[in-house]
Amino acid sequence: MVVKEDSLRGYNPPMDFDIVIVGGGLAGAGLAAALANSGLTLALVERKAPPSPGADWDSRVYALTPASTAFLERIGAWRRLDAGRVTPIYDMRVFGDDGRSRLDFSAYESGTPQLAVTVESSRLHHVLWEGLEHQGNLSLLCPAVPSELRRAGNCVEVGLEDGTVVTAKLAVGADGAESWTRRAARIDARSRSYAQLGVVANFACAQPHRNIAYQWFRGDGVLAYLPLPDRRVSIVWSAPEARATDLLGLAPAAFCARVSEAGDAALGALEPLTPPAAFPLSRMVADRMAQGRIALIGDAAHVLHPLAGQGVNLGLGDAHALADLVRGAPDPGDRLLLRRYERARAEDILALRWVTDGLFRLFDANHRVAARIRNFGLNLTNSNPVVKTLLARRAMGIGGGIHHGEPS
Ligand SMILES: Cc1cc2nc3c(=O)[nH]c(=O)nc-3n(C[C@H](O)[C@H](O)[C@H](O)COP(=O)(O)OP(=O)(O)OC[C@H]3O[C@@H](n4cnc5c(N)ncnc54)[C@H](O)[C@@H]3O)c2cc1C
Repeated sequence: MVVKEDSLRGYNPPMDFDIVIVGGGLAGAGLAAALANSGLTLALVERKAPPSPGADWDSRVYALTPASTAFLERIGAWRRLDAGRVTPIYDMRVFGDDGRSRLDFSAYESGTPQLAVTVESSRLHHVLWEGLEHQGNLSLLCPAVPSELRRAGNCVEVGLEDGTVVTAKLAVGADGAESWTRRAARIDARSRSYAQLGVVANFACAQPHRNIAYQWFRGDGVLAYLPLPDRRVSIVWSAPEARATDLLGLAPAAFCARVSEAGDAALGALEPLTPPAAFPLSRMVADRMAQGRIALIGDAAHVLHPLAGQGVNLGLGDAHALADLVRGAPDPGDRLLLRRYERARAEDILALRWVTDGLFRLFDANHRVAARIRNFGLNLTNSNPVVKTLLARRAMGIGGGIHHGEPS
């Protein structure tokens, strides 16, 4: 059920649900979709519905792991995506900053059809929302903004700015890094700026990318090329603020030349498909994933550096885990159930935070010894097929936490 803006004005009787989700980004929309046939009643509070994507290429592109695509298949979103805009990644090449060190991953060696697939953020968001608009057990409260959160006995009350009060057994904060829910629930979080911007843009490339993703750890940040259909690539260059500002100020031809040169001309000359855009990069982790009938998922609970490209995968993993736990539970806000949710996610979150932060620090250090260690580490890992396969499978979400296998 879609509750339109007009019906939210004037008299607002209390609305009672099993679960209220605040935030309909990829994590919140994914959770709502995963609970479509759960028998639970849901409300989704979102301040702004995503716009329909046009024909242009979105410069925010995600590399989704097989675990994420399996989840999206299970909840029906995957089949609504235009297959012509989804690109498998068969190989990945990672380069150190000494011009020699490298680490290669291949789907073939890892015993999997593909390492990941790339998909545009706006298209994925759109297909998830399309499904929600027809979901029988869901009230889509949009546009709507919460202003008050109260725990009252066996339920949570979420007051909206227009005066509507939504009550539920469980409130889920899926409202992104600046989560209102997290603050209103008084769940502390530790955050730190990386003093970097993530510069994103899409290009047409002169040479075929052959479905290979590239990553260069450079003195001026980390540059990643992700393959898009045909001869197109999407880049994320996580660079110190001053360098990123320089890049954004370049004329299109100079920007293309700089990106091509920084990527060792691996795909020949580049031509711009989208103007560059930039996002500030920071890390954040909430002290708790759940507390007193409130659970956090996605960026509301954790924000990672994009160098591992795992933010969305982790958020979809949260949605998957929480949906599996609350489905069929007599009380979705039960304290022990939410403890199980926290435990189920702890390993994946810690592992990815450790890897992304560790890599960031190792490659941010200008010291000669650090340079030797990091480049030696890449080569050493590259020469050990067992470690490589383990790393690749971990990054793909295979054989990790309990919710990263095949969908149940
Ligand atoms: C440069 C860059 C590149 C990235 N690349 C990758 C990548 O390659 N792979 C990857 O997996 N991840 C990547 N990420 C991370 C990824 O974008 C995020 O992890 C992901 O979008 C978070 O999804 P979410 O649903 O948790 O939060 P959001 O996308 O932030 O969604 C939150 C939703 O809540 C709504 N909302 C917020 N506050 C309120 C409120 N008070 N009331 C009502 N609604 C509210 C918002 O409108 C929004 O719809 C990248 C990030 C950056 C910055």
